[in-house]
Amino acid sequence: MLKLAVAGATGRMGNRITTLSLDIEEIELAGALERKGHGDLGRDIGEIIGVGQTGVKVTDDIKEIADSIDVLIDFSTPSATIGNLKALSDKPIPVVIGTTGFSKDEVEYIGLYAQNIPCVLAPNMSVGVNLLLKVLSDIARVTGDDYDVEIVEAHHRLKKDAPSGTAMKMAQVLAAALGRNLESDAVYSRHGLIGERTGKEIGIQTVRAGDIVGEHTVLFGGLGERIEITHKASSRDTFARGALKAAQWVYKQTPGLYDMQDVLGLK
Ligand code: NAP
Repeated sequence: MLKLAVAGATGRMGNRITTLSLDIEEIELAGALERKGHGDLGRDIGEIIGVGQTGVKVTDDIKEIADSIDVLIDFSTPSATIGNLKALSDKPIPVVIGTTGFSKDEVEYIGLYAQNIPCVLAPNMSVGVNLLLKVLSDIARVTGDDYDVEIVEAHHRLKKDAPSGTAMKMAQVLAAALGRNLESDAVYSRHGLIGERTGKEIGIQTVRAGDIVGEHTVLFGGLGERIEITHKASSRDTFARGALKAAQWVYKQTPGLYDMQDVLGLK
């Protein structure tokens, strides 16, 4: 039985992950983490997610539960995720990180943590988006510099980071396939007298509205035609199921930093 803790347990994603984990025979929900001062600290997580008593109380102290968990799924905030890894540095635990919006330094820190323990870091845990990442690379290698590449992402109004981690992952995959550098070639929005589009640009545009769960379109614009590939998530459960699959997978790996393509065997 895999003993699982979820960080950000009462959040939009954490709620679905804890709920769906209860249906998986091989997983035992053993920990629920929230930030200091959170109104639900000390309450049974089962009551919060509406499934009755589970015996798992919401805590703000990961060290308190570290000895009784096998794996952590973290969907919180960048600073909270890094704080959890730092708190676990004496006794590293395999981690699945779904949080997005990390700085370069924070990603480096996750890489250091993963030197001693298996760790999955993926801005999007859905099967569809990870298949799409694979296809994008193939298309970009063929269309090359003859087609302009634009990414458009849309999310709900409460999302805190922009562009989405998924859009940035798509941009990284496209930049690698096209031999470009996002530091110089990414264009995040356009406004004013911007002049003609350069051939090297990878455009990344952000939409925030209502309750959109997550939509990404990659557009390859050529002369006389364009290709558009769109992924639309209609429920957070697709990410939650992916995170739970990753938790069951990461626990059996050797130390290293993995992504969802590894989990799904797409590499
Ligand atoms: P959310 O509803 O705001 O949930 C985040 C939760 O983390 C909240 O309950 C928040 O509490 C809690 N939190 C804040 N600080 C914490 C700490 N120090 N320790 C433990 N918990 C803490 O956001 P969400 O929509 O669930 O998304 C969470 C993250 O996952 C975001 O970065 C989002 O972009 C990402 N995401 C990833 C995927 C994927 O497939 N990888 C899919 C969807 C979302 P308060 O609200 O009280 O501050």
